[in-house]
Amino acid sequence: MTTEEAIRKIAAVCRSGNTLKEGGRTGYRIGKVFIDTSGLQRGVVSCPRCGALMGMGNITVRHDDGRAVRFNLRLLHYAEAGHPITSRDVNARLLVAIMSDA
Ligand SMILES: [Zn+2]
Repeated sequence: MTTEEAIRKIAAVCRSGNTLKEGGRTGYRIGKVFIDTSGLQRGVVSCPRCGALMGMGNITVRHDDGRAVRFNLRLLHYAEAGHPITSRDVNARLLVAIMSDA
């Protein structure tokens, strides 16, 4: 699984719209992984690369074993638009490891 594939998988789960609550957090459950959307914010911002409007805030991907990785919501758009994702955007190795176990 590539970084982009992991993020597209998360984006697909988030599009379902079926949020749930776990331990006071809001998000989506996929296997052993909880996609925590508690860090999302109201409002939109334009993409610095293409100008498209996108949501604001952070997503935290939490594995039931305690590992977690956080990244800005804009990466969902980056993955789908084909914009480059760098090591400054996300700990890609950890993200792929967690999502491979989802
Ligand atoms: Zn863009």
